Amino acid sequence: MKVLTGPAAKFGIGTIGGRLAELPTKIKENFNMLVKGDPEIVVHEIISENSVDKVDPYAIRGSYDEIEEFIIRGTRIVLQHPNYGLNLIAEIETYRGCPRAITGGCSFCIEPLYGLPKFRKQKCIVREIEELYSLGVKFFRLGRQPDIFTYRAEGVGNVEYPKPKPEEIEKLFYGIRNVAPNLKTLHIDNVNPGTVANHPKEAREVAKVIVKYHTPGDVAAFGVESVDPVVVKLNNLKVTMEEALRAVEIINEIGAQRGYNGLPELLPGINLLFGLKGETKETYRINFEFLKRIVERSLMIRRINIRQVMVFPATRMWNIGDRVIKRHKRYFKSFKAKVKKEIEPRLLRKLVPKGTVLKEVFTEKHIGEYTYARQVGSYPLILKIPEKLPLHMFTNFAVVDYEHRSAIAIPYPLNVNKAKRKLLELIPNISHNDVLNILKTRPFKSMSQLSLVIKNKDCIKYLSI
Ligand code: SF4
Repeated sequence: MKVLTGPAAKFGIGTIGGRLAELPTKIKENFNMLVKGDPEIVVHEIISENSVDKVDPYAIRGSYDEIEEFIIRGTRIVLQHPNYGLNLIAEIETYRGCPRAITGGCSFCIEPLYGLPKFRKQKCIVREIEELYSLGVKFFRLGRQPDIFTYRAEGVGNVEYPKPKPEEIEKLFYGIRNVAPNLKTLHIDNVNPGTVANHPKEAREVAKVIVKYHTPGDVAAFGVESVDPVVVKLNNLKVTMEEALRAVEIINEIGAQRGYNGLPELLPGINLLFGLKGETKETYRINFEFLKRIVERSLMIRRINIRQVMVFPATRMWNIGDRVIKRHKRYFKSFKAKVKKEIEPRLLRKLVPKGTVLKEVFTEKHIGEYTYARQVGSYPLILKIPEKLPLHMFTNFAVVDYEHRSAIAIPYPLNVNKAKRKLLELIPNISHNDVLNILKTRPFKSMSQLSLVIKNKDCIKYLSI
C-alpha cells in the first residue's frame, strides 16, 4: 500500500511563486491515497483498518493529546536519517493555528484554516526532546508555530495580538535544557513582529528568556511581508513600517551581543512577500525604504528573505492568483538586485566583521577547490573556504572576506607551518612581506619564533604551530 503525505499531497505543487497546481495524474496513480488531513491520524487509521477504503483522507486531529504517543514512538526514525550523527537538526512543533484567525489572518496564509492556536503542553515538548536527545540528537529548533512569542499567551481567541507570557516560555526552555544539558543548538523560528510591537515590555522579557536558554546565532524570523500601507490594509498584514522598525529595535536591544560561537545571540530575520493585493511600483520603493532605514540606524538583521506569494486554494488570494506577480516581474527582479547590492553587504559586514571567529562549523561539501561549511542552526551563514578540507567535521573558522550572502573564511587557527600560501594571504591585514617571511622561515618551532618574523603582531592570533 502506498500513501503520499506532506505538502505535495495536501496542496499540490507549484513553481517559485504563483498558483499551486494539482499533482499530475501520473504521480497520483502511483499511490493508494493522497493524505489531505493530518498524516499521523490518517496513517494510524489505515494501519488499524489494514485498508484505505474506509479511511477519511481529510481526517485531522482534535488536539495534540491524540498524537503525543505517536510522536514519542516516532522519534526513532531519526536513526534512519542520512544526517544522523552528523548535523541533523530536529524541528519540534509547539503549536499550530494563528491568533489572528479571529480577523481572518493574512490574505495569502493557510494557517488560519487551522483556526486558533492549539498549544502543545510543555511537558510533552520536553519529553520529545528528551527522547531525541537520548537517541543522540544534539541540534534542535522550535519551529512550525507562527509565533513562538505567543506560545500559551494571554488573550488567544479574544485579541489579535495576545500578550506574551514570559513565564510559560521560560517553563518550556528551562525544561528543555534540563533534559538535554549538552545540546549544541537550540533555536527558534517564526515571530510575529506585531506581537513585539504591541507588547514591547513582555516581548523584551521573552527575548531575555530565549537568550538565557538558547544557543547563539538564533533568528526571530519576522513575517513582515510588506510595509506598504495599502498592501498591509488590503491583505490584513501585521505591521506598519514604524511598528516593524520598533520590533527590529527591540530584538536588537536584547539579542545583538555576540555569543560564544561567534554570532550575535538573537537577531530578527525579515521576510518580504510580493505579488499581494494592492501592490504597485510604489510598494517596492516603500519596502526598500524600510530596509534602508534599518541599515541607517545601524540595526542588525540576520537575513532578508524576498519571495513571491504562493497562492493556496481557500485563501483570499486565490482569486488574484499570479496576476500581480506576472505584472510586476521586472520590479521584483530589480528590487532583489538592489537589496543584494545596497543592503545585504552592509548587513553581512556588521553581522560578521572581518576577523570574527565562528565556532563549531560543519564542513558540508566541496565545489571546485572550495569547501562550504555552516554552523547548525535555524538560518546558518554559509562559509566558503578556498581549500578542500575534510568533510563532515566541526571546525572553527575566521571570517576574512565576503561574497554575496556568504563569507569567505579560513580555518582558525591556521597552521603556519602547513597552510598554503593563498590562505596565509587571506589573514586580515597581513602584509605581503609578512607572508614572504613566513614562507622563507617556516617550519617554526614556537610562537615566539613566529613573532620575530611578523611585523603586524595582530595577525599572530590567527596562527598556530
Ligand atoms: S502570516 Fe502569520 S499572522 Fe498572518 S495569518 Fe499567517 S500565521 Fe497568522
